[in-house]
Amino acid sequence: MNIEQVTFNERLQLLHLLQFSDHSHPSDFGADEDTKETLRALDVIASCIATGFEGELFAASLDPTTIPPTIILSKTGAITEEDKNFVSLFLDAFTSPDTRDFRQVFPVLFARCFMSMKIRMQNLYEAARRYLCHHTALLNSYQPLSFKEEFPHFHLLHPNHDDREFADTFHMLFADIEKVASSPFHRDFPVLSHANYTRLHVLSVIIASSRFISVQTDDVFSEKTKAADELRRCLERIKQYVGGVNTLIRRSRQVFPDGNIPVRWVASPSAAAERSVEMAMTPWIALKRLGFNFDAGRQQSIVTQFPSFERNWQAACRTRIHAKIAVLRYFHERGLMAPGRCAIGCSEECCWCCDQWMSRYNSLYSMRYISSSASTKIRIDWGMSGLVPVDFFIQEELGSSIKDRVITRRRKRDSTLSEKNKLGKIEESREDDV
Ligand SMILES: [Zn+2]
Repeated sequence: MNIEQVTFNERLQLLHLLQFSDHSHPSDFGADEDTKETLRALDVIASCIATGFEGELFAASLDPTTIPPTIILSKTGAITEEDKNFVSLFLDAFTSPDTRDFRQVFPVLFARCFMSMKIRMQNLYEAARRYLCHHTALLNSYQPLSFKEEFPHFHLLHPNHDDREFADTFHMLFADIEKVASSPFHRDFPVLSHANYTRLHVLSVIIASSRFISVQTDDVFSEKTKAADELRRCLERIKQYVGGVNTLIRRSRQVFPDGNIPVRWVASPSAAAERSVEMAMTPWIALKRLGFNFDAGRQQSIVTQFPSFERNWQAACRTRIHAKIAVLRYFHERGLMAPGRCAIGCSEECCWCCDQWMSRYNSLYSMRYISSSASTKIRIDWGMSGLVPVDFFIQEELGSSIKDRVITRRRKRDSTLSEKNKLGKIEESREDDV
């Protein structure tokens, strides 16, 4: 088996520029309630550590072989002293006898993570705006049930609400999101920021449980369902953070009664932590290494179809072992065979390659690792795990996905004449050269 880092990154970049998108969710298999709850808790831990810097992801898992279980943490990128110090501070705040709920932990989280909190608020605001664009007509023609049935949690905002009008209330809640999202949220205003984040949490709980949000989706995929799904996801992210922290505070008292939480950071060996990789100078050379030798005319037809294909090609990148892979490798090296499903939480959706890798690892080694929602995002900086059978499989998978992408139009040949000519050419070249 011949695998090289550069082949990996070139293939990932080709797929990215060929606008590859895979909606299969390999890690999305059923888990019992206990595992799901653990997964949610681990997602919250990873989210609480995340600063919001682009590409800086954290993963969290539990090593159940120690008593009490050890929290395993990893990061995409170099782990710093600041990361380690923050985690100690954060866990102390969780288990302190003075901590009752999110309110007492907020200053610690806010000092480090205000940027990621702000991103979450901004995302909710954008999603709410898009949702209203697609649903206002429906909202105005909607026949509401009683106010209590439409907004079962409205009392969190106002104790007396029986005589409110449905559509006005809905618009008022959305206007409130906009107001909160545009208020100052910065280190210099901790009290106001806390008030704003808490208000957004209450608004999210009310809107997420509203009847209109839960019933208004089309059966088929459309911009409307996409906007509704996106809004639900953003509401959940806000709810998960505050609600999740409260749950963690309660649970950590049960699991770690003496307040002592063992933590272990796992990192890639320093030599492999970050590597500079020189890739082909052009995508055509990278394609040639895969067996596609396109002439100028054929290259042009690809560029017509994917305008950024040549323009956005990068000849170098820095690779890192992604946080999720670092956790899996840590467990693998210690021969940990979890009896049940083993959850790995992430600060945000990782990448397509990590999901594929975990799925292949599970089937090759009969393991049952799970993580939250799968990602379709391709990250070019993916560093090989060093576990040859799985890396090899992924490398082959990348190669065949690129081939599919370049010759896949066979089925669509009949659709239009120009499409037929353009894609026929791509296909011919493949048949000639391989
Ligand atoms: Zn990843």
